[in-house]
Amino acid sequence: MQSKSFSANTLEERQDIFEEYFDRDLEYYFTSRISCCEHCYDDFCREWPGTASRDQNFRKSGMEIGYFLDQSRIQDDFYPEEIAFFSKNLKCPNCHAALEGTFYIFEHSFVAEDFDLKSIADLARTAPFLLLSHPFAEQVFEVIKRKFDIAETLPVKAIWYRGRMARDVLSSPTLSDFGPPPAAKVAEGRYNHAGHAMLYLADSLKTVQGEMRVSEPIAVATIELDFPCKVLDLMISDDVGGDDDEVIQCLARSTLCAAPRKSDGWDRPEYVFTRFVADCARHTGFGAIRYGSVQHSEGANVVILDPPLEFGSIARLVTTDSV
Ligand SMILES: [Zn+2]
Repeated sequence: MQSKSFSANTLEERQDIFEEYFDRDLEYYFTSRISCCEHCYDDFCREWPGTASRDQNFRKSGMEIGYFLDQSRIQDDFYPEEIAFFSKNLKCPNCHAALEGTFYIFEHSFVAEDFDLKSIADLARTAPFLLLSHPFAEQVFEVIKRKFDIAETLPVKAIWYRGRMARDVLSSPTLSDFGPPPAAKVAEGRYNHAGHAMLYLADSLKTVQGEMRVSEPIAVATIELDFPCKVLDLMISDDVGGDDDEVIQCLARSTLCAAPRKSDGWDRPEYVFTRFVADCARHTGFGAIRYGSVQHSEGANVVILDPPLEFGSIARLVTTDSV
């Protein structure tokens, strides 16, 4: 095969040069690397559900390999038949499958120390009470303690939304219909242990609908909340200002804290790490955690970690809607 610019090199060397130029052009056009390809896209999304559902940079990062090669500077140094030949050996850096069809040009702007998803998930599943023995979990606890002093307070008289199945409330519901459930009825949740009632609120009606994931009618209360407590912020952000923010972004984006709910039964391993985070937050003095909705990509939720028994002392029912 004729070479446009490297006829003095062996075929093997030309392959290496081609791959080097491919990486050079990725860096040149996107200052980024490949996060996944069409073979490992689902695995990436399972590991990083927060990024997959909420980060627009990732959501817009898919590109056809053929289109990329057509547009890149690689054309200057290789004939089309060389490009067709050498590109067959390009590999996905994530799963090592051949790079074909769509690939995703995206890179997390952080790499937190000790963040080994598999070993954390294994420990969470086999010995959840010993999570703090994992160096990353220990780091999480320390970061949450440091975040307390600089954390924002939940705004006073803020409007939040909370839904219930319409069949479970009266036709003229009152505030208490939307308060924290009685302890005896509380199953394990994203942030709460069984028997420990927390109050989950959403920032919009749409978020409530997304979170409830039911086709039957729901009653949604608009609630004015007056509970100025410190909030642990677990929203995804590109503004990573240091090691502490890297740890928070690992939580916000990865399956540790952003995993979608998988079952209605008692076995909910996807909630072990979030409950650990809630324990760290409560122990530190936080009154709430704010986190992105996995079901509604623009929505946010807040969970009040220890709502007062007298719900009326912190909340006022503004309206109720049926949707
Ligand atoms: Zn791949």
